[in-house]
Amino acid sequence: MLKKILIANRGEIAVRVMRACRELDIPCVAVYSEADRDALFVRYADEAYCIGPARASESYLNIEKIIKTALEKGADAIHPGYGFLAENSEFAAATKAAGVRLIGPSSRVMALMGDKVAARNVMAKAGVPVVPGTDCCITDPDQALKTASKIGYPVIIKPSGGGGGIGMTVVPDEKGLTDALKDTQKIAANTFGVDDVYIEKYLPNPRHIEFQILADSHGNAIHLGERECSVQRRHQKLIEESPSPVVTQVQREKMGNLVVGAIRSVGYECAGTVEFLYSEGEFYFLEINARIQVEHPVTEMVTGVDIVKEQIRIASGLPLSVSQEEIQMHGNAIECRINAEDPLNDFEPTPGKLTGYHSPGGTGIRVDSGVYSGFTVPPYYDPMISKLIVWGKDRKEAMDRMRRALYEYVIAGVRTNIPFHKAVMKNSRFIRGEIGTHFIEEETGLIEDIKDLLAQEQTLGDKLSLKSGKKARVAAIAASVVASQFNKHQGTESR
Ligand code: ADP
Repeated sequence: MLKKILIANRGEIAVRVMRACRELDIPCVAVYSEADRDALFVRYADEAYCIGPARASESYLNIEKIIKTALEKGADAIHPGYGFLAENSEFAAATKAAGVRLIGPSSRVMALMGDKVAARNVMAKAGVPVVPGTDCCITDPDQALKTASKIGYPVIIKPSGGGGGIGMTVVPDEKGLTDALKDTQKIAANTFGVDDVYIEKYLPNPRHIEFQILADSHGNAIHLGERECSVQRRHQKLIEESPSPVVTQVQREKMGNLVVGAIRSVGYECAGTVEFLYSEGEFYFLEINARIQVEHPVTEMVTGVDIVKEQIRIASGLPLSVSQEEIQMHGNAIECRINAEDPLNDFEPTPGKLTGYHSPGGTGIRVDSGVYSGFTVPPYYDPMISKLIVWGKDRKEAMDRMRRALYEYVIAGVRTNIPFHKAVMKNSRFIRGEIGTHFIEEETGLIEDIKDLLAQEQTLGDKLSLKSGKKARVAAIAASVVASQFNKHQGTESR
């Protein structure tokens, strides 16, 4: 087993990885930026080192500094989490050269999967259905026009090295194609360093369904079923669930076996996700994410497999602790991403001080959080505060439980998207499982529902007097005065 793990990430995922380390009795090292000095993951770690200023390029993306810290502090492995360096093949190569184990696939496989055109070709060769489109990068307008008319409009132009939904352009007909090609190439060059783009058929309102896979260095490869991630805003997932309300056991087995065969064919070792669009009963491969994903807990809740621990086992050279035959999905799990953002102001980020914090509990609840009461959500990074995950014996119980958990969740001091999640959990289409990637745009009534909720509902925060930041601060001062007087009388020291 690995001896000491450095976590090259921040926020909730850093805490998540450290939790696995603690259970495995492996010491963990945090590296943090000056903006995260007071963060939960810094306090949670066994050791923590500041590696630079808030700017990610000088801290969380600083390959040299991170590897140097790992070597100096005796960490034999680095867990990259998601985002930042998680799918950076240069980082994977540099860690290997330094003699440190990266908890992720090799730099070769990472580079292959990071090139979406190459990944499409690998999948197609292994018999996995892909979205109709190009098998090479598109460089000039003539080639683009020819390809698009062959595929049929509408088409979508995408950066080959892309991620986060950045730069994708939908082109309804021939007219806008040449300009859209130029624009996407420019965004690709500026954001991802290369202007490689490719063209796919644009599916009108598909579902996003993905398969979780695990593969070790002993030739074992398994899948843990699927996750449905169709509730998205600007191509960013907001609510995920497992299993998908539409996937049958026969489809699950068929697609699961296909993806396992495909990842075996490229010598993949680690956890990963094979993403698909799903339309009219058919799956179309989209991309592979060679890392742990934000939404991995829903799979953990229904399968009982700790994916991060499996990642650590694989990186330690151990075989997977479970076989395909042992994997069974029980019940339903739903995850809501709790973000510091205002759903009534176009989901603008709302960083700031959490003046009060009370997280839900009880049967079937899991909260993966990177914050605590009094913590200030910094403005420099992703505004995710936590992930609220629930399990129920069926989808109805999971939704009922999510409604109850959202009622219990109190975050004071900043606006969050909790009211948005409450509105979705009451939405009749969501309840029926009739979702697609345009669900939020189509359900225009959600904003009014949120306003109604905010106007009518007496929240637990109100009852605990944690709603307004000012009230919370006054209450906190009053409480500390009472505590210090109490302690004086008791002759104890207040800490
Ligand atoms: P990224 O890696 O940038 O996140 P993806 O290829 O994973 O990009 O796509 C993200 C989202 O964009 C998908 O979940 C889907 O909502 C939408 N999308 C991507 N490709 C298509 C397509 N061909 N047709 C329709 N929607 C698409």
